[in-house]
Amino acid sequence: MIKTKPTGPIPSGYDTIGGELAIGGQKASALVQENGSPLFVYSRAMLDGRLAALRAAMPEGLDLHYAMKANPFPPLLRHMVGLVDGIDIASGGELRMALDAGAAPEKISFAGPGKRDDELQRAIQAGVTINIESPGECGRALKIGAAVDKKPRLAIRVNPDFDLKGSGMKMGGGAKPFGMDIELVAPVVNQILEARADWRGFHIFAGSQALSADAIIETQAQTLELAARLATAIGQSPAHINLGGGFGIPYFPGDEQVDIVKVGKALADQFKYLPDILSSTQFAIELGRYMVGEAGVYLTRIVDRKVSQGQVFLVCDGGLHHQLAASGNFGTVVRRNYPAAIASRFDQQPEETVSIVGCLCTPLDRLSDNAAMPRAEVGDIVAIFCAGAYGATASPANFLGQGAATEIFVG
Ligand SMILES: *Cc1c(COP(=O)(O)O)cnc(C)c1O
Repeated sequence: MIKTKPTGPIPSGYDTIGGELAIGGQKASALVQENGSPLFVYSRAMLDGRLAALRAAMPEGLDLHYAMKANPFPPLLRHMVGLVDGIDIASGGELRMALDAGAAPEKISFAGPGKRDDELQRAIQAGVTINIESPGECGRALKIGAAVDKKPRLAIRVNPDFDLKGSGMKMGGGAKPFGMDIELVAPVVNQILEARADWRGFHIFAGSQALSADAIIETQAQTLELAARLATAIGQSPAHINLGGGFGIPYFPGDEQVDIVKVGKALADQFKYLPDILSSTQFAIELGRYMVGEAGVYLTRIVDRKVSQGQVFLVCDGGLHHQLAASGNFGTVVRRNYPAAIASRFDQQPEETVSIVGCLCTPLDRLSDNAAMPRAEVGDIVAIFCAGAYGATASPANFLGQGAATEIFVG
């Protein structure tokens, strides 16, 4: 007997129609028939539900920003622009996409450790806020602002002296390429003020993919404390503080949803007792995967069913070139199974243990390892969930000449 490995929890909110997984009221087989396979399907209803839940849980007046690197698909991005208070970008390419999607420049902020001069210039001319990551970058931005005769809007990205506990990707605490060390912040802000540029405040991002409400609460408290300390040293109130984000989603067996109600209550309490220097500051959090991750499904058709030494392999027409993270090759140490299902037999009970693999000629291309699934045949459709963030955009689509998957945005 082959030992079955569990798969991650399937996000709630998906329907079954005629025994099949349905997204936006359409059966998986119909979606694939119409749009081809492999296919990313993003659900507007799921996004709307997620944003409504966030609004209800978070303190009133807190801005919600979307970190678009999680999913820049233009129709989805256009929809997100209408749902959130700001778009966080991390490249000149994302700047163009955010503007094309209708985001107002004053609602865009631009972070990233390696901004080129041409990107800084376009950002300054467009009037977006630049999260300055180093004294060198500040100097370049001020010079470009003077050259194009436009006042740059500059916030300081701070490298915090703490990290988000239990986070999948640490972005603060210790030596980092992101943001500037605490002792550099006040001198750089003074330089901005002396140059009569528009100092917008701070951006403090301590990590990603945390599921523990307590860890997020602790980080938000530390972030507010640090921001107050920095503002006091500068002697001026920051107009805006981006508190980071880090809310994760459950990808793996045993993972649980972040208790956002608990996080929101704790943050509302913090806001009640803000030090004077932050009393007129506008606060934001920035989220990528939490907003869009569970709203996306990757569908891929089974092209072969084979048995090797007693083990069943379902070979699909997609793979790690679209789903690098699900294959376990994007920032994970031990490979675990993402939530997966046979979409075309969504209502059937598991009958056998199978490995679901992609079509690439590499042993890395495994979408699910020894998972319990209903019996599936050639032509059946596999669904990999949690595909709305860091799927299409963070996978090597050109590997082995495969090319990108089709993406669609449904009702
Ligand atoms: C990547 C990134 C995010 C989004 O992270 P998620 O884990 O998708 O929420 C937010 N802010 C910054 C600065 C980032 O680099």
